[in-house]
Amino acid sequence: MAGGWARDGAVSEQIEASISDELARMQAQKRPVGESLTHCAECEEPIPENRRTALPGVKLCLECQQERDGAHKMRGGINRRGSKDSQLR
Ligand SMILES: [Zn+2]
Repeated sequence: MAGGWARDGAVSEQIEASISDELARMQAQKRPVGESLTHCAECEEPIPENRRTALPGVKLCLECQQERDGAHKMRGGINRRGSKDSQLR
């Protein structure tokens, strides 16, 4: 019934060690998020600061991002009258 097992101390030491081990690993994994660019990587337009704050590591301006996200959205919206006109002439 003696609670003085040498192992008790060893176990808690191990636990503490694994906790600080874990902490060290977490800190090592905390890679720096890429710096936000002040200007778009595609068109070099300035990226608004609130966009850079909201999206750490942002590389594209809103327009270029939207183009990448929904390149197909432009379809159907194009007014084709121009080609009709040229046909009539
Ligand atoms: Zn852009």
